[in-house]
Amino acid sequence: MSPTRRTAATLGLAAAATAAVLLSALPGSAAPTAPAVAEATGPTYVYRITGGAAKADALLTAGFDVLEDRDGDDLFVMGRNDTGGRLRGGGFRVSIEQVLAPPKWTPPARSGQAAVLDAAVAEETYYGGYRTVNAQYAHLNQVASDHAALATVVDYGDSWRKTRGAGGYDLKAICITKKAAGDCALSTSAPKPRLFVMAQLHAREITTGDVAYRWIDHLTDGYGVDSQVTSLLNSTEVWVVPIANPDGVDIVQRGGGSPYTHRKNANTTNGPNCGTTGGTSQIGIDLNRNTSSGYGTGSSTNPCSETYRGPSANSEVETKALQQLWRSLYKDRRATGTSAAAPADTTGVVISMHSYSNMVLFPWGFSSTYHTGNDASLRAMAKEMARIAGGWRYGQPGEVLYNAGGSTDDWVYDDLGAASFVWEIGNTSGSCAGFLPAYSCQSGTYWPKVKPMLTYAASKAARPYGP
Ligand SMILES: [Zn+2]
Repeated sequence: MSPTRRTAATLGLAAAATAAVLLSALPGSAAPTAPAVAEATGPTYVYRITGGAAKADALLTAGFDVLEDRDGDDLFVMGRNDTGGRLRGGGFRVSIEQVLAPPKWTPPARSGQAAVLDAAVAEETYYGGYRTVNAQYAHLNQVASDHAALATVVDYGDSWRKTRGAGGYDLKAICITKKAAGDCALSTSAPKPRLFVMAQLHAREITTGDVAYRWIDHLTDGYGVDSQVTSLLNSTEVWVVPIANPDGVDIVQRGGGSPYTHRKNANTTNGPNCGTTGGTSQIGIDLNRNTSSGYGTGSSTNPCSETYRGPSANSEVETKALQQLWRSLYKDRRATGTSAAAPADTTGVVISMHSYSNMVLFPWGFSSTYHTGNDASLRAMAKEMARIAGGWRYGQPGEVLYNAGGSTDDWVYDDLGAASFVWEIGNTSGSCAGFLPAYSCQSGTYWPKVKPMLTYAASKAARPYGP
């Protein structure tokens, strides 16, 4: 594919980044140690790794920032100008795919959760219209106030920084349905089937938070107006977590003129000297490598790596809070083991929204050598989602991207048997590509695809594996 596969204007990634390098993460080197951080400015690079798909685990284990993108047998790594040399030194075939210029935007004045989440806070945006964490939370309050018969806000835990008294945020979900007795209760015996939609577990994947915001409005403004929405909310509970990793998003939105492409949470217990400005050295744990399902594959032990899996499985408060929420919403319908199937009358669909590369993924992510016991149903649903999206690719991660264990999506299916999917929303080339598309891309490109995909997913919540 040509070097114009991405454009700096549309990908819009950060220029400011740490100069610290992850020498300790290279193959054959010593155990991980946190490097000293030297702040520096300079362009961000996307490197193409020719034949990288066959070496994905080596790339991830070495701690490179492997993008959720694949072109044939090639993978892509984001880094600084010295990252290419480290890749070559590690034996990888490397070419520069793109050099990324910094976009301009102003950071919000506030960090951490606002004392009052009111209508004024709901207007707080960055980067041309993207809502801050506080704006997303104020929006939840507004929606629940404006549509008391439809919406309930649930505080399901605290972010890592909040548990440490260091700013941080509540963890918030909203339940949307035409409320009747037993609805929106934290109980696995609630009467309606449940669609669960999660966004921005990876903080820098900002498209996902915005489509979550639009989905909440689409449902609550559409009830009694749009017959499809009315029918959906009469029959189904829709749960939305618009910001699953608020500490991470706080870092992203602090980037100012050089937005920070921070992926992980903000836990500094391990690697306190890793960076916070979106480079090759980042604090935090990758919340999509931290669960006990397939923990340890396709992830790094280096605390500064973008795919650092954390010190142990399920170590993070954000991980544990999500797991507790899911266990309170979905019955356990699946026996243990890689091939056990959940029964045909299982209810529930869980969508974890990520960016980018226009793909629909389903378990097992830890290894495509194994198919789930519900593979035919999951594959058929993924195929339909991909068709609705306009021709996305679909498959298990190892079939179309690379194997990665410890994900929340594997965990949901593994632990409970609910139908679980990842959507990698976003173009890899042309307009609106990358982690940070212009805000106009949301109404013009992504929401028109994601709305019918979510509507379809909701329609399958009652019987994802049944006829
Ligand atoms: Zn992601």
